[in-house]
Amino acid sequence: MRIALYLSIVLSCISISLSAQEPQKSSLILMFIGDVMGHGGQVRAAFDENTKTYSYDSTFSRIAPAFALTDLAIANLEVTLAGEPYSGYPQFSSPDALADGLKTAGIDALVTANNHSVDRGKNGIIRTIDVLNNRGIPFAGTYKDKANRDSTYPLLIEQNGIRVALLNYTYGTNGIPVPSPTIVNLIDTAQIRTDYQKAKAMQVDEVIAFLHWGNEYQRTPSLEQMKLTAFMHNLGLRIVIGSHPHVLQRMEASMDTDSTEGRVAVYSLGNFVSNQRSRYQNGGAMALIRLEKDEKSTRIAHTGHILVWVHLPKREGRKIYQVLPVSQYEQISEYFSIDDEALFTEFAADSRKLYGRENYNFPEIHYRNGQWQVPWIRIDQELQIPQRINRIVPWRKKVTHPKLSFKF
Ligand SMILES: [Zn+2]
Repeated sequence: MRIALYLSIVLSCISISLSAQEPQKSSLILMFIGDVMGHGGQVRAAFDENTKTYSYDSTFSRIAPAFALTDLAIANLEVTLAGEPYSGYPQFSSPDALADGLKTAGIDALVTANNHSVDRGKNGIIRTIDVLNNRGIPFAGTYKDKANRDSTYPLLIEQNGIRVALLNYTYGTNGIPVPSPTIVNLIDTAQIRTDYQKAKAMQVDEVIAFLHWGNEYQRTPSLEQMKLTAFMHNLGLRIVIGSHPHVLQRMEASMDTDSTEGRVAVYSLGNFVSNQRSRYQNGGAMALIRLEKDEKSTRIAHTGHILVWVHLPKREGRKIYQVLPVSQYEQISEYFSIDDEALFTEFAADSRKLYGRENYNFPEIHYRNGQWQVPWIRIDQELQIPQRINRIVPWRKKVTHPKLSFKF
């Protein structure tokens, strides 16, 4: 009796002291997505003969539930939205419906500086900006002119009480000069330093750089990529994300703990969606980073990745494109034809071999027993609406962001 009384007094003291000292914490889960390409086959597949309209909804419906796990999903838009005539490689112009499809799926923001930004000249740059603005899709990377860049760059995103700045640069524009007065952000260390300082002056908690760089089809980062990463990390720009090689390159992270300082380098996310079907090129990865903030600091607290694969089945005689989360669909082998399953399995095995050997602190996030198996990812059961879009995968409605605000 005395012991029980003593224990209850001790326990109540602990609970009081815990609640009194509990710091005000907030968190933000970021997701970075690779190259959104628009090859000719994709444009044709998006066209509906009956309605004479374009739609990408079926391309993204199977990956969309994964975006609901994050607060902020950011992808590289590697096409212009320059209007008709639409075109695939080598000078891309995709239907505006691509922007709708990305937004509907749950991608919150885009980066637009890449080697295809100038594919359709000045009007292509301007029209792409207008299409994204009209849809309320925030982006960084390309600008109508200097005044437009000065007033909207870096892109500031504030959510859950955490404010991040997004920077974006490309190594080049395929030799096509950027027509004045439009601007495509080019990799330039002096410019990156200036932009980083501008971001810091805006009282941000974290600065992120999304770079379009590296050697195409190389599964190892180049010396240039590593030098630039070191340059940015030394500046204090801690989160560096890359794309362009169309294959995966390694991901590295250190977390903020008492003994280590947080830093992230994701060298190449591969293709998110494309018509590239060669080995290593027919899929990509999505990198997740959880930031945590209290009164004292913002910490890089958790990292992980989800593999994605582009499936090109025929449905009713037509080729269609589907972006699939690998760990979810590998449990449904009957979903694939024998040939497709071989390609899918090869991509999964290649990617896991590379990441198993080279990733550092960036584990794969697996889908098992009907959900993503990571405790630091928000799972909101209320949002699960089974069988809404298709019969095989439960559909998770996109989380809306009532408090999401974009400022500059
Ligand atoms: Zn590229």
